Amino acid sequence: MGIVVQKYGGSSVADAAGIKRVAQRIVSTKKAGHQVVVVVSAMGDTTDDLIELANEVSPLPPARELDMLLTAGERISMAVLAMAIQSVGHEARSFTGSQAGVITDAEHGRAKIIDVTPGRIQAAIDEGAIAIVAGFQGVSQTTKDITTLGRGGSDTTAVALAVALKADVCEIYSDVDGIFTADPRIEPRARKVPRISYEETLEMAAQGAKILHLRCVEYARRYDMPIHVRSSFSEKEGTWVVKAEDVAQEDSMEAAIITGVAHDRSQAKITVVGVPDKPGEAAALFRAVADAQINIDMIVQNVSAAATGRTDISFTLPSGEGQTAMTALSRIQEAVGFESLQYDDSVGKVSIVGAGMSSSPGISARFFEALSEAGVNIEMISTSEIRVSVVVAETQVEDAVNAAHATFELGSDEIEAVVYGGTGR
Ligand code: ASP
Ligand code: MG
Repeated sequence: MGIVVQKYGGSSVADAAGIKRVAQRIVSTKKAGHQVVVVVSAMGDTTDDLIELANEVSPLPPARELDMLLTAGERISMAVLAMAIQSVGHEARSFTGSQAGVITDAEHGRAKIIDVTPGRIQAAIDEGAIAIVAGFQGVSQTTKDITTLGRGGSDTTAVALAVALKADVCEIYSDVDGIFTADPRIEPRARKVPRISYEETLEMAAQGAKILHLRCVEYARRYDMPIHVRSSFSEKEGTWVVKAEDVAQEDSMEAAIITGVAHDRSQAKITVVGVPDKPGEAAALFRAVADAQINIDMIVQNVSAAATGRTDISFTLPSGEGQTAMTALSRIQEAVGFESLQYDDSVGKVSIVGAGMSSSPGISARFFEALSEAGVNIEMISTSEIRVSVVVAETQVEDAVNAAHATFELGSDEIEAVVYGGTGR
């Protein structure tokens, strides 16, 4: 029997009862004959509480100390979970990220895993113990300081360990039954997707679907590690994230063209008004934004009015970075010679994602028709090979999701989605 890596999110281990429930589940996997490695997140909202605490004592907590503090959340979970497992008669040993061999670069708060050397984990499971690893943390190869991988990083710890241990599967447990065709909170008829490709999952996650940490999916894709996303509150089969060929095989009867609808309310739009229409102007604008370390998403440049020789350029970005971008652009206003800046925080993005769309014409037309019938105005459009995204007014995000979901017949006849736990993973 092979190695199974299981990751439990914060809502699954929110309190003592949750930890006992998870312990039972881990033990039954072990009893079924698997070697089990478990990655845990901090209990409930612990990470948020720790960040708040840091902010109460310091306006700008030093990154090294903040990382040291935040890793404590996962260490609490791992020790308590190991105790719970031992109390029901099975051997369990907890390990920090550093002890588990998670080696990272030195970027505090967003460290990247550069190597995994899980010797102690392998030894523990070979001796018949269950290994419990603190998620979201590692140790810097150069500074030897403790690092964190960024919010939601435990998913990435789990996949990285699964790859290094050559596990059969990485199971990621949260409080929903899997990946859905849309967020069940705004689309009650959302259906659970049985299988989805790494590429589609990446697009869904990048477009705002809160399913898996983006980097964990990139990692899984690179090493072809199957992820099983499921709920720790039910025994139901969840969603398998696998390579595209394996999705096609399974669904060869009738491959769905659209796999899901993602939405993101945390977008803002900046319009640079009256940009002189000559070479180098767009370059100057986007260089200023890039130098401020801001990731922009969609860009639209209007045709310039012949009379004025000026044009408007709009782009979207995470609204959290709006202030920084506006400041960076204001600074170059005179040099570039544009007229003014407009900032609109009340926009959202709705995307349809599906590997099948690259081979079926008319998908965008159908999407836009559905939006128009629902009275939703499109402000911007962008596409990839397997995605079409639109920017709409934030107040119309829900209508847009519902319209897309209906027109591509993604809905189920019964209510499938149950959210068992608290506030997320
Ligand atoms: N506890 C960390 C967070 O809340 C990491 C994780 O949950 O994956 O972001
Ligand atoms: Mg917004």
